[in-house]
Formats: sequence, structure tokens, C-alpha cells
Amino acid sequence: MSDCIFCRIIKGELPSSKVYENDDIVAFKDINPAAPVHVLVVPKIHIESLESLDRDNMEVVPKIHAAILEVTKIMGINKDGYRVIVNCGKNGGQTVPHLHYHVLGGAVFDEKIV
Ligand code: AMP
Ligand code: ZN
Repeated sequence: MSDCIFCRIIKGELPSSKVYENDDIVAFKDINPAAPVHVLVVPKIHIESLESLDRDNMEVVPKIHAAILEVTKIMGINKDGYRVIVNCGKNGGQTVPHLHYHVLGGAVFDEKIV
């Protein structure tokens, strides 16, 4: 989608601090980090949110998860642990309508919702 900021990052039209990339996935540092390590893991195809997953695009989910495992190793947070968050829609607090997984690490997260 031409007006989607994450699509524009994927196309190289906007800058990003990339930490990992393969044919299907890109991972880059969040511009407004909420933790010492805060990386967004993003499918290259435009999928609006978790709710937009269907039988035709669901195959990207294990690819995202595999990329998260690469990112946690690259960022050195795989041993100590980390948190993965997906915000979905208005009530979930999603602000960028292109599916992305937040990978947060480098700190102990005391505040727990769940
Ligand atoms: P969410 O609120 O779950 O939709 O997450 C969107 C995230 O994208 C926020 O944490 C923003 O800080 C981050 N963000 C927005 N624009 C950019 C950008 N150009 N580069 C990197 N991260 C961004
Ligand atoms: Zn997009």
C-alpha cells in the first residue's frame, strides 16, 4: 500500500534501522523505543492487522515467528528472555495498520497485564 509507512520502509522509500531481513520479513528498530531493545518484526506483504489474517496469508505467521528467533539472537536477548506484543485494532492500541510484532528486551518487565 503506497501510503502505509511500513510498506514505504519495506520499499526503501523511508529510512529504518534494519536488524534482520529475508524474502518475506523485515525487522527494524522502533523509532520510539519502549525498552533497551525494541524491534518491530514485519511481514513484507501488507496485512492490516492480526484480524486480517486468513487462509490465504496465514502462512506468513510461522515466518514471522522464525524471524523473531533470529532477531532475539542478533540482539542478544534470547538467553535472558523478552516480551512479544501484537496490538490489534482500536482497543488493542494499534497505531500503524500493517501487521507487526513488537519484540522487547534488555530489561525486566515488572508491569504485567497478563
Ligand atoms: P503500534 O502502536 O502497535 O501500531 O506500533 C507502531 C509502532 O511503530 C510504534 O511503537 C512506533 O513507535 C513505531 N513507528 C512508527 N513509525 C516508525 C518508523 N518510521 N520507524 C520505526 N518505527 C516506527
Ligand atoms: Zn503496509
